[in-house]
Amino acid sequence: MEVAMLAYTPHDVRITSEIRALPPQDGWACYERTGQATLICSCGHSDGPMPSPLAVMLAKLHIHGIA
Ligand SMILES: [Zn+2]
Repeated sequence: MEVAMLAYTPHDVRITSEIRALPPQDGWACYERTGQATLICSCGHSDGPMPSPLAVMLAKLHIHGIA
């Protein structure tokens, strides 16, 4: 049986930035980015939370089958 090598990856990675709720100000709900992000791939792989720049790097590595 032949196996297609690196033809097209089935990896569709989503990076979700984490936010956290802050105390309401003047009745408005407030949120801020924590700088953390979580990876979720269509293949079932997920990782994080981790710093956003690292998440972007790991996403690229994962898509190319390195990590
Ligand atoms: Zn994947």
